[in-house]
Amino acid sequence: MRQAHWDKASQASNNIVATIEADIARTIDSYDLSLQGVIDGLKLPETNQVSKETRQVILFDRAATAKHLGAIRVIDAEGRTIIDSRNLDPQQPNRSERDYFKVHAQSANAGLYIGRPFEGDDGQYIIGISRRLSHPDGSFAGVVVGSLQLGYFHDLFRKVKLGQDGAMGLTRTDGIMLMRSPFDIDAIGRDISHSRVFEQAVGSHLRQFEETASTDGVKRLHVIKQVGDHPLLIMVAVSIEEIYAGWRQQTRRIGLLVLALCGATLALALFSAQELRRRAEAERALAILATTDSLTGLANRRRFDEVFEDQWQRSIRRKTSLTVLMIDVDHFKAYNDSHGHLAGDDTLKMIAACVSDCTRKSSDFAARFGGEEFVVVLPDTSLDLGVAMAERIRNLLVGFSSKQPNSPQMPTVSIGVGSQVPQSGTRSSDLIDAADIALYEAKRNGRNRTEPARRPSPKSSELKLVVNQ
Ligand code: GH3
Ligand code: MG
Ligand code: MG
Repeated sequence: MRQAHWDKASQASNNIVATIEADIARTIDSYDLSLQGVIDGLKLPETNQVSKETRQVILFDRAATAKHLGAIRVIDAEGRTIIDSRNLDPQQPNRSERDYFKVHAQSANAGLYIGRPFEGDDGQYIIGISRRLSHPDGSFAGVVVGSLQLGYFHDLFRKVKLGQDGAMGLTRTDGIMLMRSPFDIDAIGRDISHSRVFEQAVGSHLRQFEETASTDGVKRLHVIKQVGDHPLLIMVAVSIEEIYAGWRQQTRRIGLLVLALCGATLALALFSAQELRRRAEAERALAILATTDSLTGLANRRRFDEVFEDQWQRSIRRKTSLTVLMIDVDHFKAYNDSHGHLAGDDTLKMIAACVSDCTRKSSDFAARFGGEEFVVVLPDTSLDLGVAMAERIRNLLVGFSSKQPNSPQMPTVSIGVGSQVPQSGTRSSDLIDAADIALYEAKRNGRNRTEPARRPSPKSSELKLVVNQ
């Protein structure tokens, strides 16, 4: 977008320069043709033999009477005006001190000379446009000079709009200012040949460059072109700030829009992240709920099945022993009957807390197996260590009940301990069965005791029969 704005401004400046240059070149060329017509007419011997009126018709064409063009005069080698296109009897001051007279008197090769601006008889600023008259031997015979009002350039420049800080100028190639926009009467005739802009301008037919003006400090894009083959330069300058003003506005607008979109995206992302977090927390809570026993807070049977199977497979891989404690509350039916189910629930909670307290190791795992039965899984633990752990739990409960004399007597527990180094191909339920059988043995042997599983373990169905008897 920035480049596009630049290109547009550059193209517009070049177009303006080309149009103005073409107009000025055409005007000067046509005026020059009139001057050359006068020179050619003066060479005809008949010109001096006819009446003044006829001579005027021969020498001066109508083109030279256009707006902004002044009279064409023929001046002799002494500076006297001998013929005037607008006056049959010219009586005018001697022109030998005029710059154009001196230039042509000194040089036969000055061609079309464009003079410095000066104030004419009618108060209008004008420039002289002149050609040399030569005798057949080449010596100086005088000058044919016409004038062009600076108002012509002023009118031309006024039509062009270049923005607040834009500027336009017409100078001679030696740096003499002929017209400038914005108009400044003091600038007319000033020598700007030492200004930074002018120093860059000379040397080529068409130039484009950026330069900061020493007068107002404004950086501008300058486009400068020579007017035809004449010693004139037309300059157009547009403020860089103004070239980019539109682009800045558009960029600001788009930037704000992008910023707003980024803000909205960020807000949406934060909101989504928060929602995802909330959802993950809810799912975690749900997962805990789904695997926790609501009464005791221990893992439930479903979780036990998962963990036990997992530990079983792990022990197979590691070839380590896996130990299971099966805990059953003694005479709990009678306890419920005498203290009520709610007191029974509280007691189950307390027993669960004791079991949980004794299985603090991260690998130890306690769960409610069902009813008033609890199970503890001890990976990488021998039968003896399992029995010791079971005794710790049982003794903790015995001690617990003795510490609370006013509460109902805490029931005791019986614990069966099974232990095995699982082999692949064996069933995990065998280990549960072994612990279960040991538990029934503890019941049979009087309860409130720990019983390790015997090996080889008898058929569990047989033992259950024994217990039931
Ligand atoms: P044993 O020493 O042979 O194990 O006798 P027991 O009375 O404990 O055995 P039984 O299997 O006959 O009774 C278990 C009782 O546990 C029956 C039931 O009322 C009670 N029970 C099971 N789950 C709960 C529970 O969540 N809360 C309460 N309060 N009681 C429960
Ligand atoms: Mg039971
Ligand atoms: Mg029981």
